[in-house]
Amino acid sequence: MSKASSTELPKTVDPYRLAEQEIVLEGEIPLQALSRFGDSVFGFEDGAVCRVSLSFSMDGERRRMVTGELEAPVTLECQRCMGPMQKTLVSRFTLGLVTSDEQAQQLPKELEPFLTDDFSADLWSLTEDELLLVLPPFPLHERDECPAREELEAFESDESVDEPVRKSEDNPFSVLADLKTKKH
Ligand SMILES: [Zn+2]
Repeated sequence: MSKASSTELPKTVDPYRLAEQEIVLEGEIPLQALSRFGDSVFGFEDGAVCRVSLSFSMDGERRRMVTGELEAPVTLECQRCMGPMQKTLVSRFTLGLVTSDEQAQQLPKELEPFLTDDFSADLWSLTEDELLLVLPPFPLHERDECPAREELEAFESDESVDEPVRKSEDNPFSVLADLKTKKH
């Protein structure tokens, strides 16, 4: 609905009314406003935002639903080199609006429950939950882009030219040499 791409996504809405009116909300949330998410990532650029599109609707059985898409550029910590890596988190989801656990139990399996108050829902909190769900548990640079890989390769080739005559059986590097041979 909204044309301006820099509009901030409303924080609190009446999701049931939006569903009855089949409203689409589009907007942005500054990542620095999402503190739980901020604690879970390495960082993000100043002024970085999560772009969100939420489409409210009712299905044939008058279940209220929200279908959403979001996109957020963040910095994660590569678990190989422990250095920063850029990644754009993307998520698509369909949620069923419920006001109680009982209602949540009755949702069809393809709908994740979104627990709200009768007349209000926190869309920023919803977005933050969905962002946390798509955080990779073990982020890694692409092999060719990881600084640790270059260091590892440099270390291996140094070892192969250094003291090639050292053959002692308890040489700790012999294990590494074996590994290296198997890899090639
Ligand atoms: Zn890395």
